[in-house]
Amino acid sequence: MTRFSSLTSQFFIFIAIILGIAISVSTYTQYSNEANIINKALYDRGESLAELLAAISVEPLLVFDDVTLNGYAEFISNQKDIVFAAVVNDKNVPLTHYLNKNNNYIKEVLQSDEIVDIQPALNDLRKNTDILFFETVIKFGDKPLAKAWVGLDRQPYNKLSKDALLNILWITLGVGLFVGGAMYFLFKRKIFKPIEILMQGTQSIANFDFDKTVKIDGSGEFALLADSFDKMRLQIKETMESRDLVMMELSELNDSLEEHVQARTQELQILNLKIAHEAMHDPLTGLPNRVLVTEQLQHDIAHAERTKTKLAVFIMDLNNFKEVNDTLGHPEGDRLLINVSQRLLKAIRDSDTVGRLGGDEFAMVLPDINEHDAVKVANKILEELLPSFALDDHTIKVGASIGIAIYPDHGVDHTSLVRLADVAMYEAKKDKSDVCVYRAELDKYTPLRLSLMDYLHTALETNQLQLHYQPQVSLVENKVVSVEALIRWYHPELGWIFPDQFIPIAENTGLINQVSDWVLEEAFTQWRKWQDTGVNLNIAINLSARDLASPGLPARIAGLCNKYKMHNNGITAEITESAIMYNPEQVIEIMHEPDMQRLQFSIDDFGTGYSSLSYLKKLSVEEVKIDKSFIIDMVRDDNDANIVKSVIDLVHNLGHVVVAEGVEDIETLTQLKLLGCDKVQGYFFSKAVPVDELMAIIKNIEQA
Ligand code: C2E
Ligand code: CA
Ligand code: CA
Repeated sequence: MTRFSSLTSQFFIFIAIILGIAISVSTYTQYSNEANIINKALYDRGESLAELLAAISVEPLLVFDDVTLNGYAEFISNQKDIVFAAVVNDKNVPLTHYLNKNNNYIKEVLQSDEIVDIQPALNDLRKNTDILFFETVIKFGDKPLAKAWVGLDRQPYNKLSKDALLNILWITLGVGLFVGGAMYFLFKRKIFKPIEILMQGTQSIANFDFDKTVKIDGSGEFALLADSFDKMRLQIKETMESRDLVMMELSELNDSLEEHVQARTQELQILNLKIAHEAMHDPLTGLPNRVLVTEQLQHDIAHAERTKTKLAVFIMDLNNFKEVNDTLGHPEGDRLLINVSQRLLKAIRDSDTVGRLGGDEFAMVLPDINEHDAVKVANKILEELLPSFALDDHTIKVGASIGIAIYPDHGVDHTSLVRLADVAMYEAKKDKSDVCVYRAELDKYTPLRLSLMDYLHTALETNQLQLHYQPQVSLVENKVVSVEALIRWYHPELGWIFPDQFIPIAENTGLINQVSDWVLEEAFTQWRKWQDTGVNLNIAINLSARDLASPGLPARIAGLCNKYKMHNNGITAEITESAIMYNPEQVIEIMHEPDMQRLQFSIDDFGTGYSSLSYLKKLSVEEVKIDKSFIIDMVRDDNDANIVKSVIDLVHNLGHVVVAEGVEDIETLTQLKLLGCDKVQGYFFSKAVPVDELMAIIKNIEQA
């Protein structure tokens, strides 16, 4: 509004200034015109009167008729605006004169002092600027006779021109005001009112009031503008309304979303707690895992340090657990571990911690205890484990070995305490003493089991691993048709480390996938080299249960087959029966993956994993390897021989090839031949050897 009124007032100030200037200029021009006209008339009159007086005075002058002359002068000066009239000689001496006694100047002159001498009085009047003075020479022919003087009073003319000025002023002002007013009303109606309406419209919209119609009558530009503006208002209104609707829906949506989020957050919190718990606990037994045990141990060490007390770390390993697992299967093994953990919990105090580190390895942390009492507790634990464990299908006995390390006598930090207890546990196992407290001299005899994983990392990076190859002889073709690739690790300080020592740990820690990756690459490379040099040997490699569970395996196999151009099943993957039975459905599924079909499959260690016939039928395998434990003694043990015979028949019935591993002597070989075994492998032919010794050995075998 202020801007608008300032526009109006600016406009009016502008108009007023223009009008003022116009009025002034017009008044001035008119007035000066009028004054000029009046002035000219005055002069004309004065001049003609003087000439008239001169003309009529010639005759009386010639005849010296003073009376007539006087009469003329009086006649002339009788005019209201004439001050005086006179006829003077060349010396300005009045011959006749007449003064208008009604004139104010004359009145003044006459009143002030009686005119004695008329000549000086006339001269004074002549010089008065308020009196216009005219002089005409009176001539007879060319001869000057006298001069006619006429004095005209300027006053009435002055007054007249002042009146004229006022008149002009009033008229011009009137016209000016009229024009100004007319302009004002015109502008107000045609421009300012519409602008005001439009501005009010925009202001309403600016204030989010979309209901005020904007309308200007008529058909001019403003009316059109108002019309489009109003359409715009309606559009904005519509948009705003739909926006409001959307906002409402949005806010409703937001509310329900918030509810969802809250619910989700709660679920997540619960899940997080669960995950946090799972991250810290062993899923099988529910006991704290290595992470939590370590944490608790650190905490207890700090406490012992403050209170100047001792604490004990136990590492316990079950005796023969691998055998239990292998013979009774993983499910029974798992149940045994659960039962063991329950008994352990019974044997210790509330302030003690018991956790499972992996496999059949448990750890216990016992605060505020000395070595003597720690040994007593360890024996109590072993007593607790003495009674048989009733599993689902079997009742078994298991012993255990416990290694003890004491803070601060043997070590002060958690890593070394665990390592030392582990060293002691190995010693207990080795000398079958069940419980062993750490002593410094134990250290040098113990393989650095805990460090083994660190070393294995390095081994993978620095080519410490090798594949050795053990020939497999076909009893049908009487020649070496394939080799089994067995991993070997030569450590620069520890010397040869055999797979039984590190493969189980690698399987437990997940490092096995990297190991298998290395084995696969190495085996494919070797196969390609042999193919390129005309050696036609199938290579069998060993895969772990954990490899089969890795989702990237089929793609990896496909990649290798393409890279090394393997189209004819040149590689066989051996999978142990117990690995298959750990999760048969998964193994069946992965074996049937098209990419995996580019390999052949062999069931390793058959006879130890309790596989069921129904699964055996479903597995797409080429061969079955009878476990060496049945082969080695079969010539001396009828039981084993019977098992071998039944397995060979069963496998043949299923349409697979039978392989016997662990063939150490000629008797075993002969018997296997009689039983119809297809392929054999064992020390009788050769141990696993480095690749550069292999060809000579194969040659020997085939010649013999
Ligand atoms: P396995 O697959 O059953 O391999 C056969 C094992 O028996 C080999 O031991 C082999 O050297 C040994 N052996 C061969 N012939 C005879 C014989 O006539 N008599 C006796 N008593 N033993 C014989 P090794 O090389 O120590 O391997 C042990 C186990 O380590 C293998 O058992 C296999 O389960 C695993 N392993 C070996 N290499 C690899 C590998 O590259 N990857 C995986 N995942 N496991 C491997
Ligand atoms: Ca094998
Ligand atoms: Ca085997």
